[in-house]
Amino acid sequence: MPYLHHKEFELAWCQCLGSYQNNKRADTTAFAFGSFRDCREDTGRCNNNVSVVKRECCIKMAASLSTDILLPDATPLLQLPKHIEFLAKYGTSKEDYEFCMTEFLRMSGMYWGLTALDLMGKLDSVPKEEVIEFVQDCFDEVSGGFSPAKEHDPHILYTLSAIQILATYDELKAIDTTKVVGFVQSLQQTDGSFFGDKWGEVDIRFTFCAVATLALLKQLDAVNTRKATDFVLSCQNFDGGFGSKPGSESHAGLIYCAVGALSILKEVDRIDGDLLGWWLCERQLKSGGFNGRPEKLPDVCYSWWVLASLSILGRAHWIDKKALIKFILSCQDVSTGGFADRPGDIVDPFHTLFGLGALSIMGYDGDKAINLKKINPVFCMSQDVIDRLGIDVQLP
Ligand SMILES: [Zn+2]
Repeated sequence: MPYLHHKEFELAWCQCLGSYQNNKRADTTAFAFGSFRDCREDTGRCNNNVSVVKRECCIKMAASLSTDILLPDATPLLQLPKHIEFLAKYGTSKEDYEFCMTEFLRMSGMYWGLTALDLMGKLDSVPKEEVIEFVQDCFDEVSGGFSPAKEHDPHILYTLSAIQILATYDELKAIDTTKVVGFVQSLQQTDGSFFGDKWGEVDIRFTFCAVATLALLKQLDAVNTRKATDFVLSCQNFDGGFGSKPGSESHAGLIYCAVGALSILKEVDRIDGDLLGWWLCERQLKSGGFNGRPEKLPDVCYSWWVLASLSILGRAHWIDKKALIKFILSCQDVSTGGFADRPGDIVDPFHTLFGLGALSIMGYDGDKAINLKKINPVFCMSQDVIDRLGIDVQLP
């Protein structure tokens, strides 16, 4: 069987996707490995009866398109004391360029850093009172939502981060949680989806933030959970993955939001775990790292999005664990502490949390002096916090 040229392959994919989902979008980035899961090798047709290519051909085609990196020869040990130092210092020099440029996500930045510190048992290395005061200052009494920093607009993304921080500190009493519930309620639409804020953008990420916020406040019933589930399921694609809204390309970060939301809603059984599990496993590259979708470079944060999703689906053992650990450890900066997206890049609290989180899921314990706490794969918070709050989600 001759291999198809790029354009023909793309066309075949579009026909397949188009007739399967009535999706008119010809997205050239999504057609590689995994997208032809439904192709039948014996007939050379996909199960939607569109003539395509043999599965073997798809795999060879995808292999030639995939992108990866080479890891450094030596793999550093897990540098927990360095990571603690890096996070405790981060943001203390408020004149820093980086600090000034990240104001729009300050609240989430705090959640990433504090959660990582909590996983290493060092939450006390930052002044708690200052953190709580910051969170209170970002609370918008009128809407009930939180902004990323003072003088900014409230949004569901920062509202979840704020609630995660307060829950970690056992300080939910520091704010009026009834107003927060009202804010989340106000964002749900008639189709079950959620706006992120008053400007009306819909995204599956906002659904995850909404249900996770309510679950942490034990007020899940405040919204229509049946419709919320229906909306999440409507974002599923024929390849088993999920996009940001119905018909959008599958992406590992959005899959985490979908699977996490379904776990909170106790509806994980409504999806085909094998099909989605395969798509997620195919994100692991030769370097051991995961990408977020076909043809993209590996990145430490996808270690979390992919592995946490597989863990919720009960299929975390489907990946090459040793290779992933090696990739994550290679992304540490051993002199400054912290993790970067890829080896040699600049470290930040975001990749530090997700690197540590993935190591925690795999039960990695490379440092005798400090143990990584167990992480909850749905909330990305220490399991002991979730246990203290008595929150029950659907896990295998
Ligand atoms: Zn990343």
